[in-house]
Amino acid sequence: MSPTGTSHQAIRGIGVSPGRAVGTVLRMPPPVPEPSGTRRGPGLSDDDAAAQIAAAAERVREGLERSAQGAVGTSREVLETTAMMAADPTLVSTAQDLVRSGDLTPARAVWEAAGQVIDQLAALGGYMAERTRDVADVRDRVVAALTGRPAPGVPDPGHPFVLVARDLAPADTATLDPDRVLAIVTSEGGPTSHTAILARALGIPAVVGAAGAVDLHDDAPVLVDGGKGEVVPDPSEEQVARAQELAAQVRTFDGHGRTRDGHPVPLLANVGNPDGAQPAADAGAEGVGLFRTEFCFLDRKQAPTVEEQVAAYRRVLAAFAGKKVVVRTLDAGADKPLPFLTATDEPNPALGVRGLRTATRDAQVLEDQLTAIAQAAAAEHAETWVMAPMVATVEETEDFVARCTAHGLPTAGVMVEVPSAALLAGPILARAAFASIGTNDLTQYAMASDRLLGSLAGLSTSWQPAVLQLIAATCRGGAQQGRPVGVCGEAAADPALAVVLVGLGVATLSMSPRALPDVAAVLASVTRDECRRLAERALVAETADAARAEIRAALPVLEELGL
Ligand code: PEP
Ligand code: MG
Repeated sequence: MSPTGTSHQAIRGIGVSPGRAVGTVLRMPPPVPEPSGTRRGPGLSDDDAAAQIAAAAERVREGLERSAQGAVGTSREVLETTAMMAADPTLVSTAQDLVRSGDLTPARAVWEAAGQVIDQLAALGGYMAERTRDVADVRDRVVAALTGRPAPGVPDPGHPFVLVARDLAPADTATLDPDRVLAIVTSEGGPTSHTAILARALGIPAVVGAAGAVDLHDDAPVLVDGGKGEVVPDPSEEQVARAQELAAQVRTFDGHGRTRDGHPVPLLANVGNPDGAQPAADAGAEGVGLFRTEFCFLDRKQAPTVEEQVAAYRRVLAAFAGKKVVVRTLDAGADKPLPFLTATDEPNPALGVRGLRTATRDAQVLEDQLTAIAQAAAAEHAETWVMAPMVATVEETEDFVARCTAHGLPTAGVMVEVPSAALLAGPILARAAFASIGTNDLTQYAMASDRLLGSLAGLSTSWQPAVLQLIAATCRGGAQQGRPVGVCGEAAADPALAVVLVGLGVATLSMSPRALPDVAAVLASVTRDECRRLAERALVAETADAARAEIRAALPVLEELGL
């Protein structure tokens, strides 16, 4: 910690998960490379090489079990599964055979043995094929142990730390423990990447696209401000004290989103894993505005059965009896490939057969899902709405609504994520019961900027005036048809932008439950007319920075609340 006034220049990035944390840096180890040298020198006998492999696998198993004991939830499950794979003798014995028959180095033998095990599992299909990623994980850990590299994945130093990485893979984010990881800083990664969404869901302050973070070294003290998108190396005592004061403020949400003059703006939750539904309800969410059903089935090689879908969906509906739950049909593709539904050979997956478009290739998956949603809805007491992702045309809307009607699902809507849908909101909403704007993809497609790329983060913000105009067009279409328009992209969780969205005519805002108290507090500080006036000002801004700066300056409550 520096004495007052001597802190270093802040590293700028994009704040994707609000909150402040002070701690020391730990960098994510680089991925384990394929061992290049294959032949063993004469100095190491077959037996010694074989013994090294067994010992390394054992060390890996022990380490994973230790980590699992200190972990909870998904993180614990992932670690336990990987420890079990490390204990499986097949990989070790196959590698030991290879050192004996082929003079391979222990690391090379483990690499090749894992390749054989992966091929065998993949050929078996189904559940076994889903384990190939675990084998690759164990392989990397054993090779790291053999070659003296740090173990791959999120490090576990036994104390809390600020995780600094280039970007995080989905499997790494699954093992993030909010009690250990004080904050996340990535030098790449876009603001609406799923890593960012997960960090927000876990309540871990996060800054992405902070190119300067590559210069941070292990154990360096830093202050991370996930709201402002700033990383302050060697912060001053004053900065630390202010951050701690703000971090100690606990806001809650009373379950009624409204403006200062009492105009209701229902604040809903985005839910992925059904485990998140009850905590979302406990956080006061007035319903679910986006249930990302594909998150239940990522990594599946085969389509889930109707029965298992019913079981998963019922858990979410049960947590919201008497309230609205908007179930989105599988949004497979791009950064969320579902092996049973998406092609792997498309040159541009974000522009490919994804979302609702997959039904043109395999309508049965959609039909089964609608069957499952209808059964779950009939068995529970939530108000079940259904919507399709990635709708671009009136014909797609008609087709989807007709399918829902045939399944007895009367409230069928569309997501507005493609600019064409925003521009056609009138005719689309003449057919659909509601629209929900997915600002993450709407921004990606309006700005032609990959939402996963940190280097394009300046483009990938929903403050872009062009994006705001598309949102305004969607709201006009909704008003013409008397249909509600909500927002369920990350824009809804930005308290300043939420004010603008309400002013543009958005009826409901759906977000990660952690964002509910902040959005509610800021909305409660403005009247509906003020929202409208601010929306007009944002709409005529010429740049994203100007729009954001102007609205933030008009909302002093943000500074008071430390947002
Ligand atoms: C969006 O695109 O804004 C959205 C909510 O969907 P997802 O983030 O799951 O693509
Ligand atoms: Mg989307």
